[in-house]
Amino acid sequence: MHQQTLPQNLWLRILIGMIAGIMIALVFNMNDVNFSPNLMSWIAFPGYLFIDLLKMIIVPLVLSSVILGVASAGSLESLGKMGARIIPYFICTTAIAITIGISVATILQPGASIETQTEVAVTAKPLTDLTIPDRIRNIIPVNITEAQLTQNMLQLVLLGLFIGIALLKIRTPASKTVRRLCEFTQDACMMIVGWAMWIAPIAVFSLLFVAVTDMGTSALAGMGYYMVCVIMGLACMVGVYGVIVSVIAQRNPIAFFSAIKSAMIVAFSTSSSAATMPVSLSVAEERLKTNEDVHDFVIPLGATINMDGTALYQACAAIFLCQVFGIDLTVMETITLLITTIGASIGTPAMPGVGLIILATILNSIGVPPEGIGIILGVDRLLDMMRTTVNVTGDLTATTVMQRWMHGKIVSDDSLEKV
Ligand code: ASP
Repeated sequence: MHQQTLPQNLWLRILIGMIAGIMIALVFNMNDVNFSPNLMSWIAFPGYLFIDLLKMIIVPLVLSSVILGVASAGSLESLGKMGARIIPYFICTTAIAITIGISVATILQPGASIETQTEVAVTAKPLTDLTIPDRIRNIIPVNITEAQLTQNMLQLVLLGLFIGIALLKIRTPASKTVRRLCEFTQDACMMIVGWAMWIAPIAVFSLLFVAVTDMGTSALAGMGYYMVCVIMGLACMVGVYGVIVSVIAQRNPIAFFSAIKSAMIVAFSTSSSAATMPVSLSVAEERLKTNEDVHDFVIPLGATINMDGTALYQACAAIFLCQVFGIDLTVMETITLLITTIGASIGTPAMPGVGLIILATILNSIGVPPEGIGIILGVDRLLDMMRTTVNVTGDLTATTVMQRWMHGKIVSDDSLEKV
């Protein structure tokens, strides 16, 4: 059991920081006030400090959590049972998200009124054209130090999985020591999260201030309708989570969303599922009261491969760009879009802004010039914040569902801690 890490009323303080950051930046923006790069770097300082603190513990936390999550499954059979449920679950929710993204963009036609002749800037980084076997091989952390160095989450999850399975099979005093070491590592990481959260309100103020100042109001105005479409799609996905929580996990969705709001706000402010992962783990343990074998396994895995918000966004953006470039997708191409997007969202690193870069692969598969990304770049930051919030909500939804599937309904919603 970890220590209590999250300060009380955290969400309210973060929310105040967030609103203040947006409002003050907007006021300066509207009055055309420009800040010197030096002053901006001081304003950004608490925000980046906060993200850096969270990032500092990602490697030890992912490793220790996955190892403990696997080891506390108790046996290979129950681990297999968990894996056999969670992977199809992730694929299904991602497919639902993409379907929503495609439907919203097809029905609302955000790209229909945008000029095709728009000069677009080439911004997408060139992507290496890896074959599928190569991509699969890439998941294996051939060089463990490099995996840690580059914080390659997928490789770290796999490494944790292997060590966890070894712990299940080797029952010696040494394996008990490794387990205890992991427990301590995890506790220490969670304690650091608790400390980081004390500066969260001011950090969020700083991140939002910088984001709004960077975006500028004019970029937002021109792309308003496209943004509304994406946001509507993401809101539908949150509605789907509400239904999943109440029907499958059999918990009160209002109490669920209220319990996870700190994680949602941190996801929104940091635009990174990876940076939010430590907070999601605290929320799962302290507020949702899920078992360790469930959240230690599902959250790091989900933060890495389950990105419903990103998938929805990528599908919606792809259809939008098709409309802009006057490309009509056939049914087969739409199915290709669905499948490519499932793969792409799994492969999208849980970092700010990368969903947009990965979008280039998807655009390639349906014949849209990847340069089209230039059109949507200006508003990506805000949409990144929103899709990351959905990504993190999806992971916590999956955690409650797995709790139900693996352990039945062990807590009543009345026992959800008030925050
Ligand atoms: N920022 C997202 C995340 O960390 C990934 C993306 O760019 O869509 O979840």
